[in-house]
Amino acid sequence: MQECIFCKIIAGEIPSQVVYQDEKVFAFKDIAPAAPIHILIIPKKHISSLNDLGVEDAALMGHIVGTAAKLAKEFGLDKGYRLVSNCGEDGGQTVYHIHFHLLGGRQMHWPPG
Ligand code: AMP
Repeated sequence: MQECIFCKIIAGEIPSQVVYQDEKVFAFKDIAPAAPIHILIIPKKHISSLNDLGVEDAALMGHIVGTAAKLAKEFGLDKGYRLVSNCGEDGGQTVYHIHFHLLGGRQMHWPPG
């Protein structure tokens, strides 16, 4: 996906603050943090949104959630955190490469805005 900003970040064409990567996933700091800790976890494979997942992506999604839990521990989020993926216009999605926001370091509120 040549025009995808997150694919460009994975390729190193756009700089980012990488916190973790392996052969399947990539994690980096959000450029506009909404919490003291705000990390984006994305698959290296381009998938536009939650709506575009196939059954073949089940293990990949499990790996992303496991990576989030590992990073939460690494970043000291012992009191808890939020993991969220915005989907589509009403969901507030602005970048169409599926991503999970790992947010922590402050009290989260519910319902979200
Ligand atoms: P969403 O609105 O759920 O699609 O989330 C997209 C997120 O990507 C937002 O929180 C943005 O701040 C973040 N973002 C956009 N461009 C960059 C970038 N170049 N580096 C890091 N984070 C970015």
